[in-house]
Amino acid sequence: MSRAYRIAIMPGDGIGPEVVEAALSVLDRAIAPQAVEMQYSHHEAGAHYYRRTGLSISPQTMDEIGQADAVLLGAMGLPDIRKPDGTEIAPQIDIREHYGLFASLRPCRLMAGVPTRLKADKVDLLVIRETTEGLFAGRHDRLEPSDESVSDRLTITRRTSEKLFELAFAQARTRRERQGTPGHVTLLDKANVLRSNAFLRKVFDEVAERHPDIGTSRIYIDAGSMMFVTNPERYDVVVTENVFGDITSEIGAGIVGGLGVAPSADVSERHGVFQPSHGTAPDIAGQGLANPVAMILSAAMMLDWLSERHQDPGCARAAADIRQATEQALKAGVLTRDLGGQATTTDVTRAVLEQLEAAHG
Ligand code: NAD
Repeated sequence: MSRAYRIAIMPGDGIGPEVVEAALSVLDRAIAPQAVEMQYSHHEAGAHYYRRTGLSISPQTMDEIGQADAVLLGAMGLPDIRKPDGTEIAPQIDIREHYGLFASLRPCRLMAGVPTRLKADKVDLLVIRETTEGLFAGRHDRLEPSDESVSDRLTITRRTSEKLFELAFAQARTRRERQGTPGHVTLLDKANVLRSNAFLRKVFDEVAERHPDIGTSRIYIDAGSMMFVTNPERYDVVVTENVFGDITSEIGAGIVGGLGVAPSADVSERHGVFQPSHGTAPDIAGQGLANPVAMILSAAMMLDWLSERHQDPGCARAAADIRQATEQALKAGVLTRDLGGQATTTDVTRAVLEQLEAAHG
């Protein structure tokens, strides 16, 4: 029996509100036949909010979104709104740190109708990027000011790595059941040079022993990055350190059509924030040109996550319907400018809604 899920909506800046509006209309249409209910609460945060209040996200909003069952986030930040130290506000990173969202799930799937420069006919992989340590571990370290030398710290902990790898093996299994992928996890590391990465590989090997039904590979990050372009079919689930994952997930997005079609989820055991991989795209904001597909597919990821956490098959069916409707719309050639087409945000949203109507009458 389904329940009403509390979803915190954070549209953010730039194209964020445009793609969130598109995704919510698709979400509402997809859950209706499944008797799944959503209660939305709307929360302001981001660059515009910072300009008005001096805060990028209020403590109250930070608390409130933690009480929701999931967070759906557009994108935040604008290059011309900066803090006094010259950096941009990034509440999406603050949320990740506040709630210990240690893993970012970034599926890269080549969909029919989406142009790619690749020769591969099939790409269906999931990059899992660790997001709280690795080469970001020393982000808040105190540094002695120097104009000669500056170091960043790369820290790997057993606790986070074990959680990360358990998640990777669970995802490989779920993907195999849901979409017939091989059930395989590849670790990308630099274990030949970095002691931290040799330790990462040791923990990976230990966790892998607990999952004999899932195949494994270990590849150095340099060769492994090349293989995203030369042989992406070899990958199912790819798991890696923070910065390696930052880079390889964008290579993955690039080979399947770019940021406009790249969804993502930042998760811990308890919390999930679902957002497109792209930013606020100020160059096209307010013009109806944003590709809503990444945001729509992020909403589908949210439904899958809710389905797994709450054993709710209605959410899983709604997620599958959204993915199928989106793929059909793209296959029919309804493409925004970033994919070489002329369609607007509204055209794509309408096409996805029509596909959902056609599936459910
Ligand atoms: P961006 O992803 O916003 O844009 C990069 C390029 O991709 C632009 O040409 C843009 O027009 C295009 N693009 C991105 N999403 C698109 C979509 N859905 N449809 C069509 N085209 C799309 O990256 P950027 O320009 O480096 O950053 C812009 C702002 O976004 C910055 O202030 C940055 O800090 C912020 N940002 C936020 C997040 C987040 O909230 N998670 C992530 C990345 C960047």
